[in-house]
Amino acid sequence: MNKIVFLDKDGTLVEDVPYNTDPSRIKLCPGVPEALRLLQQQEYKLIVASNQSGVARGLFMEEALLRVKQTLDRLLRKHGVHLDGFYYCPHHVNGTVSRYAMKCTCRKPMPGMLIHGAVKHGADLAASWMIGDILNDVEAGNRAGCRTILINNGNETEWDYRSAKRIPTFIANDMLEAARLISTSIMPGYTQTTSAGEQVGT
Ligand SMILES: [Mg+2]
Ligand SMILES: [Zn+2]
Repeated sequence: MNKIVFLDKDGTLVEDVPYNTDPSRIKLCPGVPEALRLLQQQEYKLIVASNQSGVARGLFMEEALLRVKQTLDRLLRKHGVHLDGFYYCPHHVNGTVSRYAMKCTCRKPMPGMLIHGAVKHGADLAASWMIGDILNDVEAGNRAGCRTILINNGNETEWDYRSAKRIPTFIANDMLEAARLISTSIMPGYTQTTSAGEQVGT
């Protein structure tokens, strides 16, 4: 089975500019290319999972997100990084555009995008990770059954630990530290080899 690192976009992969879809204002966060290369070398698929309620709020069209994806692909390709997927949730319960104004199961902290990605890519969620800069990302990852890393860069300000699902497996200062934590973590309860030398998960 495959394994995935799900990545929040705003404030995690790129500098957080609220509701931005302008390619010229999309800048990678420090350490992101190195971090993603390291994860790619470890054979993780890299999938973006981003809340984009600006669509439901009428601030931009869904098509604008295609430009965002293409920009991100271009910035990362220069560093030899390939994204395997780009998922976004366009919904918001208080949206002004009626077809997107709904309570959905894909807006983080719900795990819909992660579960969809895992099914599509034949991935084991227990061997997968979610990295984000707020606890809603962590909760989505934990709800999906992944391990989770919070990038503690100041974007989480409420620290609402109302449920155990909001507690990350690790807290890292930046993406490179997060990637190193993942690359050195053995899955709990995971047996590397049997006596027969065959790899098994327990
Ligand atoms: Mg974020
Ligand atoms: Zn949604």
